[in-house]
Amino acid sequence: MISFARQRLGRFLPPFLSRFAQSLFRIYYNMGDCIFCKIVDGTAKADILHRDERVTVFRDLHPAAPTHILIVPNRHIDSVDQLEEADASLAGHMFVVAKQIAARENLSDGYRLIVNTGPQGGQTVFHLHLHLIGGRQMRAMG
Ligand code: AMP
Repeated sequence: MISFARQRLGRFLPPFLSRFAQSLFRIYYNMGDCIFCKIVDGTAKADILHRDERVTVFRDLHPAAPTHILIVPNRHIDSVDQLEEADASLAGHMFVVAKQIAARENLSDGYRLIVNTGPQGGQTVFHLHLHLIGGRQMRAMG
């Protein structure tokens, strides 16, 4: 909702004012310099596959497999650790969208969904995201 409002605002303002307004939004909503927030609000480029009012889906810049896609909530949430009970529907929506994108990408033989959480969990971008990885045989975990 917030990101949609930000995008709409962007359409009615000249580019320099739009960028200024986006920066104010980011500061107000404590999003800082988050690259995924910038992709969500359109100020950073990405190969976007799907966008709705709750999530944005785009291809990973450094794919770990033939298909490597990220499902990202539009609202900034640092990681799974910051999820609240009220976010349960959003978290579920991320999985449903992942399934739909997997079908669109012809991953009918299967795929892997990963959510790295925190530094020891291998998280490098601190905006919650679900990795959708497929197109090759995955090794068993562990
Ligand atoms: P993680 O290590 O779980 O936090 O995953 C972060 C992922 O974001 C990595 O797979 C990166 O390759 C990917 N990534 C980082 N910056 C970008 C970007 N600008 N566009 C698309 N993917 C990105």
